[in-house]
Amino acid sequence: MLLAVDPKQIDTDDQGRLRISWKDGQTTHYTPRQLRLACPCAQCVEEWTGAKLLDPDTVPENILLLETELVGRYALNFKWSDFHSTGIFSFDMLRRMAGLEP
Ligand SMILES: [Zn+2]
Repeated sequence: MLLAVDPKQIDTDDQGRLRISWKDGQTTHYTPRQLRLACPCAQCVEEWTGAKLLDPDTVPENILLLETELVGRYALNFKWSDFHSTGIFSFDMLRRMAGLEP
């Protein structure tokens, strides 16, 4: 059975991107806007159909990540400068966003 890969360290790089160093040695980067556009919460994605409800034009180019919080042992929650904070990003999802195996 494959074990999920956990982050070893989570911080911000010198370009203001979220940086995750994973326990398998990979490092991935995400801009705040990239994460905001991928938000999987019920306000941003229709629960049953998976259709995107979020209009990308409403997300500022210069949106900032204000807070990053661990959710249990499997996910991160972000607070952005547009006051959105309901998305739960699983580690699996964050790895897939960066083109890595979960
Ligand atoms: Zn959302």
